[in-house]
Amino acid sequence: MKQKLVKQFKDIFGSEGIIKTYFAPGRVNLIGEHTDYNGGHVFPCALTIGTYAIVRKREDHKLRFYSMNFEQLGIIESDLDSLVHDKSADWTNYPKGVMWAFKEKGFIIENGFDLLLFGNIPNGSGLSSSASVEVVTAVIIKDMLDFDVNMVDIALISQYAENHFNGVNCGIMDQFSSAMGKKDHAIFLDTSNLTYEYAPIKLENSKIIIASSNKKRGLGDSKYNERRMESEAALAEIQQIRDIKALGELTEDEFEEVQSAIKDPIRRKRAKHAVYENQRTIKAVNALKENNIALFGKLMNESHVSLRDDYEVTGKELDTLVEAAWEQEGVIGSRMTGAGFGGCTVSIVENDKVDGFVKAVGEKYLKNIGYAADFYVVDIGDGAREI
Ligand code: ADP
Ligand code: MG
Repeated sequence: MKQKLVKQFKDIFGSEGIIKTYFAPGRVNLIGEHTDYNGGHVFPCALTIGTYAIVRKREDHKLRFYSMNFEQLGIIESDLDSLVHDKSADWTNYPKGVMWAFKEKGFIIENGFDLLLFGNIPNGSGLSSSASVEVVTAVIIKDMLDFDVNMVDIALISQYAENHFNGVNCGIMDQFSSAMGKKDHAIFLDTSNLTYEYAPIKLENSKIIIASSNKKRGLGDSKYNERRMESEAALAEIQQIRDIKALGELTEDEFEEVQSAIKDPIRRKRAKHAVYENQRTIKAVNALKENNIALFGKLMNESHVSLRDDYEVTGKELDTLVEAAWEQEGVIGSRMTGAGFGGCTVSIVENDKVDGFVKAVGEKYLKNIGYAADFYVVDIGDGAREI
């Protein structure tokens, strides 16, 4: 892979100078959804699929970008002195945003780059290809310009770029997983203070399967922002009677004591999800530590029900995939993952049931939805790095 991409880089940008190769993974969240902006816990892992970047430092301020995934766009040029979001600059707004974010944080960038990307994550499907593009760019800048930042800073700078340069109001989970991932481990991250712990995922008898609904998020981004506002409004109402900073601070019992402060029943359901999902995530990680994978799976299923009924971010595509999965033998747990409204589900399936799962869930999806889903058996890999 590396040799092939370096050759492509040389064909496009010329072969002189020092050419380096980096990789940043996509991620899948096993449980803890829509908790990362509510001060709760998440439990994602980095994947072995992600974004490869081939790069050469320049001596001027020029930026030249090329993506193997968007070859029709050709080389897109820009400049370190004009880092503004520009719709016509398409995907290059992601790496440009990271350069801008470094500058905003006070770093001085005097070298431009020639950058070629190749990603093997399905784009826009909720496995965070955008975060992997940001994180790989941030690692390149840190490494090639010798900036004193650690991998958590890399995640924060990348999130800052996605929020403020690209206008996507995401929490920290995606960039954190891509930067901090660890092979065969998931990251139990408390988003209220960024403390984290790696938990081994020892799936001797089962596999993680991602099913992509192939439904593009469409209106998803505006719905995502709506959910964030509903959660914030519910928090503000609870704060009238209780001194908390985030919904993630409440246990289920504490929520039941204060929930009547939330006037609107819809908003109450949203807050209930945020609180219960956070507690479920804590329980799920404990179950895993006790090697109780069956309980872990049951909590994944409950997470989906809560996202479907209380947070209302699933939709018929994701529900069809998950409900078809639940009917299958050998399925330990299945839920939507990512922001929802489209995107993917994640399932844990016993080894010898994987083929049957893909066939049966795939057929049901095609029959009910009218187009096919894609299935990926994934492995948990390391975070962003030079390769
Ligand atoms: P997700 O992050 O869930 O995959 P997004 O819509 O947030 O979905 O991000 C997808 C966008 O990220 C793409 O449309 C593109 O702009 C950018 N992107 C992702 N991977 C690549 C790549 N390999 N090359 C260029 N741009 C990419
Ligand atoms: Mg994204």
